[in-house]
Amino acid sequence: MFSDLHGVIVKKKYFNFKTTSLNNTIDKAVMKRNLLLISNSTMAGEAYLGWPLNYIAGFLQTHHVKKITFVPFAGVNLSDKGLTESYDVYTKKVSEVLATFGVEIESVHQTNNPVEMVANAEAIAVGGGNTFHLVGKMHETGIMKAIKAKAESGTPYIGWSAGSNVACPTLKTTNDMPIYEPVRFEALNLIPFQINPHYLDANPEGHGGETRQQRIEEFLAVNRDMKVLGLREASLLYVEGDSMRLMGKRDLRLFVFGKEPIEYPPDSDLSFLL
Ligand code: ASP
Repeated sequence: MFSDLHGVIVKKKYFNFKTTSLNNTIDKAVMKRNLLLISNSTMAGEAYLGWPLNYIAGFLQTHHVKKITFVPFAGVNLSDKGLTESYDVYTKKVSEVLATFGVEIESVHQTNNPVEMVANAEAIAVGGGNTFHLVGKMHETGIMKAIKAKAESGTPYIGWSAGSNVACPTLKTTNDMPIYEPVRFEALNLIPFQINPHYLDANPEGHGGETRQQRIEEFLAVNRDMKVLGLREASLLYVEGDSMRLMGKRDLRLFVFGKEPIEYPPDSDLSFLL
């Protein structure tokens, strides 16, 4: 067990699993990645980062993290004064959560040398918001490459929503509007599949627009070798090297071109997807 956090015990076992990848080819380089890829920050009516708080705390404790380097570029409208002010508000909001378990934060928008800040990071957190803006700014500042190098060598990485999208090969399965034109759609490519965060089954009665499943099927029609994981709210993927497990409260929906989607319950070993 970890510490008692807001009255809830953090279960150490969640962060110590070891499984054998079913996809264990000899020539496949095993990345030393440690990723916590969260569908969404907040459930309606709950505190910010409320539902994943224990997972975040446990993950950071496991890796002895005392300070996080934060990427706020998805947070474009937390202040109407401008982008910098919005990043300031976002950083403060996240810092207040991390402070509850004694972790400090520094943000890449607070330095003239974000690449150097990332290179020296103990751990990296990428917050949600608009994925197009996030990916654009990560390329422009050079931190896309810097974070990739760090995360591939084992530096703990936490992403929620847009921050989970950006761990994928590209941003092509985001739900966001293209409010900003990134120089490339390519993202960190820390995992070999796409995530669709906030995955939703429901479609409003009488609504003629595409369902989420239809949008994902469109993606698969032109990206046939890719897999898409519909990550429902209140769920996350924990990736450790070549092992991956679904955690949280909801089933995950796996989409593969030309096949019926498959559902996986919480605690499923999904290492075969790596
Ligand atoms: N806008 C979402 C978020 O970061 C990302 C997405 O839905 O693709 O919260």
